[in-house]
Amino acid sequence: MLLEHLQGKLAAIEAQSLTRFTRTAETGTAPHQTVSGADGVARELLMFCSNDYLGLAAHPAVAQAVIDGVQRYGGGSGASPLVSGHSRAHQEVEAELARWFEPHIPSARAIGFCTGYMANLAVLTALGDADAEIFSETLNHASLIDGTRLAKASVQRYAHADVAELRRLLAASRARIKLIVTDAVFSMDGDIAPLPALLAAADEFDAWLIVDDAHGLGVLGEQGVGSLEHFGLRSERLIVVGTLGKSAGLAGAFIVAHETVTRYLLQAARNYIFSTASPPAIEHALLTSLALMRGDTGRERRAQLRRLQSRLRDGITALLARHPGLGWRLAASDTPIQPLIIGGNAAVMALAAALEQQGLRVPGIRPPTVPSGEARLRITLCATHTDADVDRLLAALEACVGLSS
Ligand SMILES: *Cc1c(COP(=O)(O)O)cnc(C)c1O
Repeated sequence: MLLEHLQGKLAAIEAQSLTRFTRTAETGTAPHQTVSGADGVARELLMFCSNDYLGLAAHPAVAQAVIDGVQRYGGGSGASPLVSGHSRAHQEVEAELARWFEPHIPSARAIGFCTGYMANLAVLTALGDADAEIFSETLNHASLIDGTRLAKASVQRYAHADVAELRRLLAASRARIKLIVTDAVFSMDGDIAPLPALLAAADEFDAWLIVDDAHGLGVLGEQGVGSLEHFGLRSERLIVVGTLGKSAGLAGAFIVAHETVTRYLLQAARNYIFSTASPPAIEHALLTSLALMRGDTGRERRAQLRRLQSRLRDGITALLARHPGLGWRLAASDTPIQPLIIGGNAAVMALAAALEQQGLRVPGIRPPTVPSGEARLRITLCATHTDADVDRLLAALEACVGLSS
């Protein structure tokens, strides 16, 4: 009876072409990766799906730093940060990130978390108490949405990039504490939030501005500090959540804000207080990865990403021009996230399967991750892709057009 209930739900998911499943990576994160599919057969695939934008996950210095960290600290942290899990390496990562953000946030301090999901729950539940109202952008990441659900604050949603609607909601609010929360780079669209206008609204209505920079850190800004550097913003209202499993190539996350905010989070954020600290060896390696990200390696890799983006966009634009009426649309994105919007769920999954037949892995993204009727291929580029890799993707897409027409 209980199993039949779930089997019925699974059948309904399957009927909408919405079934999700994992593949198993047999080799490390890199553009060319050996992956076992649902059939258990291992194949080398050309991957356009990881968020390891700078290719640091496979950087030899990062791998060596993990080894060094294990030799110094061994395995796990053994406890939550306030008990005994906070190591010298955790402390140094937080101090380094505080230095990165000091130009953008006065008295900046960072506090570490195991994942970005946790950090988002933490900031929204700790600051979004019963006195507060949260103003949340419609296309925010699922972890921010879950944070608003867990928070005691009331929640208003404003339409994508619609600062005018946000201002109307802020003007109508009688809440003592207002929290605006947005992705900096929208994870399924690749576009960048209008942060200067959002900060102006935050100033006018005395609100915090929480920026989830999961896809901006390491990618945006001359030094890779992310969206605040990109726009040249500075304010004590800014609270940034960053993740370290994407462009930093490892794992973990942080919140950086005025030190009063981080001191309060240390007292109030239950996900910080009641969860085991990340492994110190990973924190130790993060120091290497952050140095690469901010230095010449990062600068060169950001430039390479921009070159690859142009090559891909020019190629897809030409393909769409050759096949008018195809109904595909390339999203307006200036980041390594380059979505190709197809429309229906079954159509996008058929396209992803046809690409996989040709040895390429480009994930199809369906509702509820994206709005209904806007299923898409989420193409992500890494600096370790080559021009030849991008050309192979373009040729494979062209072959798929032939198949579907
Ligand atoms: C990936 C992601 C997160 C979650 O970060 P994890 O460290 O993977 O838990 C949060 N927000 C956005 C926008 C993301 O893309």
